[in-house]
Amino acid sequence: MVYKIGVVRGDGIGPEVVEQALRVLSFIGNFEFVELGIGYTYMSRHGELYQRDFFDVARGLDAVLKGPLNTPWDRRDFRSLNYLIRRELDLYANVRPFKSYEGLSLGRFDFTIVRENLEDLYVGVEGEVGGVAVSVRFTSRQEAERVSRFAFEYARREGLEKVTLVHKANILKYTDGLLRETFFAVAKDYPDIRAEEVLVDTSAYKLVREPSSFRVILTPNLYGDILSDLAAALVGGLGLCGSAQIGPRTAVFEPVHGVAFDIAGKNLANPYGMLEATRLLLKYLGWSRGDSSLLKWSKALEGAIRRAVQEQGAVTPDLGGKYHTSEVGDAVLKNLSSEN
Ligand code: ATP
Ligand code: MG
Repeated sequence: MVYKIGVVRGDGIGPEVVEQALRVLSFIGNFEFVELGIGYTYMSRHGELYQRDFFDVARGLDAVLKGPLNTPWDRRDFRSLNYLIRRELDLYANVRPFKSYEGLSLGRFDFTIVRENLEDLYVGVEGEVGGVAVSVRFTSRQEAERVSRFAFEYARREGLEKVTLVHKANILKYTDGLLRETFFAVAKDYPDIRAEEVLVDTSAYKLVREPSSFRVILTPNLYGDILSDLAAALVGGLGLCGSAQIGPRTAVFEPVHGVAFDIAGKNLANPYGMLEATRLLLKYLGWSRGDSSLLKWSKALEGAIRRAVQEQGAVTPDLGGKYHTSEVGDAVLKNLSSEN
């Protein structure tokens, strides 16, 4: 079986970290890469923000590996490309596993944040009239149900005993209220998994004080955005964490960090977030296509990453190390070949 993988090199440090991911996938074999043009770097060469058939091509792929894309703050006319990709590919669940590294992380933990990825304040219905700016928040029963079901299925597949809903339904009685009601209705179909809830403010506190008490966290879009950065700080840095955005037909895998223009093109970027995304891609294809060899490879890559970070100290300057981006890639590849 040959899998078709879309490759978005991205902006800033994107191309450097994506390159390390491609080295890993090429080593494993059975992947065909399809370059997909999108972003500012692409625009500077081609005059448009993304290739015309970007979404048609992407929809037909098994998965997409994606570097970070620049989202300018100062342009009101412009919607984020990341958001456009989510909408067009219907990537409704954003999955971010956070597992501690000994000697690097704050505490010991292993939990996953599942973030609703399409609604909430991200729908971009905003305006200003006479000095009053308004933003509209959306929660639909349909999305609440789809993402709740995803969270429980994820917990079941991973053998995790509970899902915790993070919300603020005591204040946002309609939007978070609907999510909460839907979540507990879906929970009835999963008697083997405990359904819990915690207010978002309390969840921030508990994530710092007792991160080991969480397994799967389900959260609306904006809280998920904020809590993911908090969780990345617990792990040891933005550069270590990866994410999967899942849709009904395809899925997009990317690092949690952004474009980091300050260190772009210097071979200094930390590629572990992108390598984590690669591990998640292998796992997703393994599960969704019933390919046990890819599940084995994802385990092997997990081991290779852990050994490199924890035992070999193969880390970039952001984590106090002396390794260059490509040398981290070398170390992980070496570990991967010795594991198999
Ligand atoms: P965005 O606007 O997409 O969030 P950003 O440049 O703010 O992009 P962040 O991921 O928020 O990117 O990173 C903030 C800072 O953290 C970067 O400027 C960089 O110094 C550092 N950083 C982020 N990711 C990495 C990485 N993978 N390796 C090394 N340093 C990183
Ligand atoms: Mg940022």
